[in-house]
Amino acid sequence: MVSEDLLALLVCPMDQKSSLRREGDALVCTRCGPRFAIKDDIPNMLIEEAELPPGCDALTDLECVRSGDARVDVP
Ligand SMILES: [Zn+2]
Repeated sequence: MVSEDLLALLVCPMDQKSSLRREGDALVCTRCGPRFAIKDDIPNMLIEEAELPPGCDALTDLECVRSGDARVDVP
């Protein structure tokens, strides 16, 4: 199990402030919605490896990016 203390410290790597909620074997950003898989009790917080929410085809579609709170380097 990921400890509740650790979970409370983690924030979304996109805007670095939104909190995350536990959903099965993943952490989900409460704002922009990507799913970060938890493997061997360690959440993988790499946004490049996160599962994007429905309707989002790219990181630039995320709500926090569109509103200007997060930046992604688009190649
Ligand atoms: Zn987020």
